[in-house]
Amino acid sequence: MNKLRYECLKCGICCSIPQNTNNDYIKRIPLYPEEVDKLIEIAKKRNLPFKVKEDLVFPDIKNKKILVLTYRIILKPQGSCVFYDKIKGCTIHNEKPYACKAYPLAIRRIDSFNIEITIDPLCHFVVNNYDSLRNIGLERIKDIFIDEYPKAETFYEKNKRLQLKIRRLEAEDKIQISRQISLKDFNNALKNWKRKEIRVK
Ligand code: SF4
Ligand code: SF4
Repeated sequence: MNKLRYECLKCGICCSIPQNTNNDYIKRIPLYPEEVDKLIEIAKKRNLPFKVKEDLVFPDIKNKKILVLTYRIILKPQGSCVFYDKIKGCTIHNEKPYACKAYPLAIRRIDSFNIEITIDPLCHFVVNNYDSLRNIGLERIKDIFIDEYPKAETFYEKNKRLQLKIRRLEAEDKIQISRQISLKDFNNALKNWKRKEIRVK
């Protein structure tokens, strides 16, 4: 039986902008609001230019607010995450966000309300073992990514709880998410409406 077990090669691909990508490229390392708070604190202490951008957002047309569920790390202009060191790798290993702890397992968004756990094909370990990892089932994923899978599951569950919270707020008529907003109106809302972060434990 194949005893393949995930081992990080510390190449840093997952913490950096890949070569030959255009200037607009922003790698999607999703963060929950409380993770952003924690990383801002660490970055402040280290005097690092840590920046994030809103990632998953919903327009709440009842309160004219943009609901922010997740952010993502901006890797520009330095080309890699501010916490990445070429020699040491990630310098916040124990405190890094769930998305990084779970990597190369990742959450793939099927649509605004549905997600699944997948393997990121950009990871060097995945590239090197592509034939063994292609089309494997969940049990094999759990076995090969024995430490990462529980983190991916936590990440996934939290995402689900956020979606449920949104639905509950809608059912209680506290918010109203527009699912048919035009791109123009959505951009307008993004520009003018205040933000409200949605947090769950
Ligand atoms: S937090 Fe660590 S693992 Fe995550 S992108 Fe930054 S350096 Fe990489
Ligand atoms: S791309 Fe994969 S092998 Fe390379 S540092 Fe990231 S997780 Fe490790």
